[in-house]
Amino acid sequence: MGLKEYLGDIWEAVATTAKGMRITARYGVDPRETITLQYPEERWEPSERFRGFLYNDIKKCTSCSMCVKVCPVDCIALEAVRGADKKLVLVSYEINIGRCMYCGLCVEVCPPKSLTHTSGYEKATVSRGELILHFVFEEAVEIKARVAKQVAEAAAKAEAAKEAKTTDVSPEAPTGAKGDAPSVPEKKGVPPVAQPAAPAFAAGNPAAGDDGEKKPAQGPKGEPAKPEESPEEGGGKTK
Ligand code: SF4
Ligand code: SF4
Repeated sequence: MGLKEYLGDIWEAVATTAKGMRITARYGVDPRETITLQYPEERWEPSERFRGFLYNDIKKCTSCSMCVKVCPVDCIALEAVRGADKKLVLVSYEINIGRCMYCGLCVEVCPPKSLTHTSGYEKATVSRGELILHFVFEEAVEIKARVAKQVAEAAAKAEAAKEAKTTDVSPEAPTGAKGDAPSVPEKKGVPPVAQPAAPAFAAGNPAAGDDGEKKPAQGPKGEPAKPEESPEEGGGKTK
């Protein structure tokens, strides 16, 4: 290296240093050129497409598990149970934002678009557990018990409706006591059949009651007594 080249390098170093110092001085004195935010009093405004922390609107979420399946780092955990209306009921939904790499695949595949990126990015903590976001705040045990109760009630209701339907379809049972002959319905316009005349009562029959009620006369063995032969005039018998 000759003297000329040596002096040229020194000059280049001094010139670039002076150029850099001029830019630094400009940012230092001109408030319009400020690039350092006074955090946390001042905050950076993310762009519209910024992928911040994930948020799941569980009112829209159908518990389809598409987000769980597509996540490359398995940072979404979901639990759901089948409800009385056969739809899935979300029991718990968690996202580990300490493991998430904000690729956005879960948001892309979510059918009802319940999963979205927010503009949030501040989550300083000393505990890894606090990096797990929970979206269902009711206790899982309580949700499961409530859903199980609803399922049991719906099953009982369906069973009752089924029994009522079966009863309606079956023919009516015949009226009357068990073992009785079925009653013959009366025909309209047909006169009642005349009943045979009551047998003659013997005057002075002891079987007749004192109250004047007349009963058929009976023989010694319970047979009906023969009528007394009326004596014919002259002791003969009528032929
Ligand atoms: S953004 Fe990517 S890494 Fe994060 S939860 Fe969704 S799919 Fe998983
Ligand atoms: S993909 Fe969407 S709807 Fe399906 S479980 Fe995930 S957040 Fe819920």
